[in-house]
Amino acid sequence: MNLNYKTQGIILNKYKTGDYDGFYVALTKDFGKVNFFAKSSRKNKAKLTYHLEPGSLSDLYFVPRIRRESFLLTGADLLLKPSFEKLGNKEIVLYNQAINLTSRLVSFEIMEVDKIFLVFDILKQYLTDFTKLSKIENNNEISKQHRARQYLFQAGFILKLLDYAGFRPNLKQCNYCGKKISAGKGIFYDLQNSVLTCCTQRLSFDGIEKVSFDCLKLTNFLLNNDFDKMEKVKVEDEIVSEVWRFSINHLKYCL
Ligand SMILES: [Zn+2]
Repeated sequence: MNLNYKTQGIILNKYKTGDYDGFYVALTKDFGKVNFFAKSSRKNKAKLTYHLEPGSLSDLYFVPRIRRESFLLTGADLLLKPSFEKLGNKEIVLYNQAINLTSRLVSFEIMEVDKIFLVFDILKQYLTDFTKLSKIENNNEISKQHRARQYLFQAGFILKLLDYAGFRPNLKQCNYCGKKISAGKGIFYDLQNSVLTCCTQRLSFDGIEKVSFDCLKLTNFLLNNDFDKMEKVKVEDEIVSEVWRFSINHLKYCL
């Protein structure tokens, strides 16, 4: 019986165990979230460790461990890794946020199995686009446009992840009067209840934020389209910032 496995995996976390051994958590294409034990991985620096940085995508080779829930990692081939040395601090923070968020939300208590596999797909797309963007610039300063694009990707990633976890925001109607949300109307985000509303009289003013209709349109677009389409859409910086804030506010509420 052949018990050697191979699958693509994105490393979410790594821990030291003992002097040289490593423990890794990965989101994999075929097995969902999996724990791996790697013997002497930190000793064999040139070999395994390079392929196992959090946020990188690799082909992973592994075998079951007797009477354990984790697998023994026997090899890894790196497929994708953003060039961190070229990224600014802001970009690295964004990137790590996406990895940490995935780590928190991808669990069987929160998500159905088929959704977990969808998360692998969108995280892989997110990393691919992020890697592409991180390589465009050859000078130190990432252009404003690229930065806006990264914020757009992240907002898209967060919204999709929350959707899969069962926290899709209702963008269609006012939570209190039920009226359809449309352009030209004052629309507000109720931070305490994480809903949209046109009825400001119901709210205390420190807990609401005005939202533009363009922001909602773009948010809707991000929820319903994949990253390839996001790359093509023309957007203004201000709207992207607004959508990003909206998705972060919604995220804070959901967590
Ligand atoms: Zn209303």
